[in-house]
Amino acid sequence: MVLIQLSNINKTYQNGESKLHVLRDISLEISDGEFVAVMGPSGSGKSTFINIVGMLDREFEGEYVFANDDTTALSRRDFAAFRNRNIGWVFQNFKLIQQMSVFDNVALPLVYAGRRRSDIKVAVQQTLDRLGIGDKGEKKPSELSGGQQQRVAIARALVAKPKFLLADEPTGGLDSHTAQEILDLFIALNHEGTTILMVTHDAHVAEQAQRTIRLADGQIVGGM
Ligand code: ADP
Ligand code: ADP
Repeated sequence: MVLIQLSNINKTYQNGESKLHVLRDISLEISDGEFVAVMGPSGSGKSTFINIVGMLDREFEGEYVFANDDTTALSRRDFAAFRNRNIGWVFQNFKLIQQMSVFDNVALPLVYAGRRRSDIKVAVQQTLDRLGIGDKGEKKPSELSGGQQQRVAIARALVAKPKFLLADEPTGGLDSHTAQEILDLFIALNHEGTTILMVTHDAHVAEQAQRTIRLADGQIVGGM
């Protein structure tokens, strides 16, 4: 089954008087259950591309169908709710809230979704256990190693059980051993059914995905 269908996506930034055409006529399908890497030089449009795929940005031309729903037809409010239901985001620098405990960071998506406190407790603990950090709930992020903090960020992305996990340089700041542990976790999650799209600069990381999409000057030049 096709999970994601992008058709003729174009994205332009307005820089004062001039226009920058950053994504050029991108068409792409991602099947349910795939693990896809995105590579390309700096400035090739990777962040712009995954912000659109990850539904952080809807200012683009073209069609984006997710699980048979046309995302461009959603209202602003429904768009955000749709994203939060379907997509988990993981960032290179974790983006954890430092003042909050690990448990409360991971609970956030469920709190926003209005889930019951008792359900939240169970779901957060299950997710922390799954990621091998079940004993870290009471800690603050700063008390953990980089690899553990990335596991917290992945737990937060997964706690609401999204179909699709998006990761922007998830191993970027980590030493190679820790990076491989995070990648092994992604591979295991993918085997359990999560579709994953991951931006990376590291060819050794990308080659462990099932497919690599290559961007150059805003166009897909390989891996379609
Ligand atoms: P990558 O992630 O591959 O480094 P980006 O998607 O960040 O590429 O950027 C692609 C191009 O778009 C670059 O030339 C960048 O300078 C430009 N760009 C990115 N974001 C903006 C923005 N908000 N406003 C204007 N130009 C931008
Ligand atoms: P990169 O360093 O790879 O360019 P960023 O850390 O700048 O990636 O984040 C990519 C985009 O996601 C940015 O446009 C940022 O505004 C947005 N973003 C970051 N964190 C969140 C979040 N928690 N929720 C929604 N949007 C976010």
